[in-house]
Amino acid sequence: MQETYKEPAPYHKSDENPYDSMMARFDVAAELLKLDEGVYNYLKTPVKQVIVSIPVQLDNGKVVAYEGYRVIHNNALGPSKGGVRFAPDVDINEVKALAAWMTWKCAIANIPFGGAKGAVKCDPGKLSMGELERVTRRYTANLLEIFGPDTDIPAPDMNTNEQVMAWIMDTYSMHQRKTVTGVVTGKPLIIGGSLGRREATGRGVMLATMAALKKRNINPESTTAAVQGFGNVGSVSAMLLQERGIKIVAISDVSGGYYNSKGIDIKKALEYVNGHKVLEGSGLGDVITNEELIEVKCDILVPAAKEDQITKYNAGKIQARLIIEGANGPTVAEADKILNDKGIMVIPDILANSGGVIVSYFEWVQDRLGYFWDEDDINTRLTRMMNEAFENVFSTAIRYETTMRIGAYIYSIDKVAKALKLRGIYS
Ligand code: NAD
Repeated sequence: MQETYKEPAPYHKSDENPYDSMMARFDVAAELLKLDEGVYNYLKTPVKQVIVSIPVQLDNGKVVAYEGYRVIHNNALGPSKGGVRFAPDVDINEVKALAAWMTWKCAIANIPFGGAKGAVKCDPGKLSMGELERVTRRYTANLLEIFGPDTDIPAPDMNTNEQVMAWIMDTYSMHQRKTVTGVVTGKPLIIGGSLGRREATGRGVMLATMAALKKRNINPESTTAAVQGFGNVGSVSAMLLQERGIKIVAISDVSGGYYNSKGIDIKKALEYVNGHKVLEGSGLGDVITNEELIEVKCDILVPAAKEDQITKYNAGKIQARLIIEGANGPTVAEADKILNDKGIMVIPDILANSGGVIVSYFEWVQDRLGYFWDEDDINTRLTRMMNEAFENVFSTAIRYETTMRIGAYIYSIDKVAKALKLRGIYS
């Protein structure tokens, strides 16, 4: 426990914004795919970008106006799908990138959805429950024409949870004068949520890790992992990886991280976070920073917190052999070549974290059917779909002699391009 982890590395924030990162990969894939110029132009621009003002009365009587966003990147394959995040530093560029990633993610997962994303620029940590509810309801009311089970379906993302989804569902339903459960996914179970949804993204990360280890002929029980972020995605990923025999040597959250070469008991970490909200003070190992966690000695690195964590400044120092992107956009495009040159296999976000949207799709289907599946059924279907998606991306990467990331972009862009061609341009 007392082993010290030293040598803190200087941390530099990337100069690339997430939309640049997305477009850099899109361009490489479009080139390899010899994408038609018209389709390229069509796909590089979101179909709709909405910015709304959200005036809210705080508990102290003061009125503030937050900025809210919803971007629909593409809906050629079906209604658009994508989470809503609450964050103080979010901007339209970030939302545009996240919306495009949803388009590619749904295409890779083979589910009949396009891509969207939403956000409210606010600091949820400073808001009471009542204030959060008012923000959520006003955001939903301002986007009534956009949201709908056949048009655009939100879900949880950073700092939004089942309760926030329940408020979105209720607000939308009040305006429709009937309960419309299928307007949002990630809801609590008793109001149309799905078994397995809460764990779905982390379960998908675990399945992607197992598939990648198998391709590299590595026995999971001989490996170690570091997981950045201990929220929904990070904590479930860490727990399920540990259950598969992988030793978790480092974890972190917004308060910082811990390194322990003997392994961290994830159950204990979860219990601590349930009581204290953050990992700080848990004493689960030696204190490290989030920047140090990225470079820690381990076989598998799972960035599961936020974007822009792996940059050209720290990619060269990563010791892991495998990176499984639980978060959206944790690696900037400038770092791709460095990681590839080092022989690190990267399972990209649009494949690795697609478990969440796959079970969101199951939730939407169940809501529409009014018939709910048991958890085994959900997990069996999820496992099959994740493994199929992994194989499709893997074989595309082999065929085009490229990385898993570019393989994932090629597979999804090609699919959306085919749908666009069949549908034609309405003018
Ligand atoms: P969450 O809010 O549940 O957890 C986020 C975690 O990251 C928390 O532990 C927080 O403390 C930590 N964190 C925040 N800022 C940090 C920082 N600067 N450094 C280190 N840790 C930090 O969010 P989540 O749902 O787990 O989402 C995490 C990532 O996964 C996001 O990129 C999100 O877009 C992506 N994602 C989520 C889902 C899902 O189903 N929830 C699905 C696909 C992708």
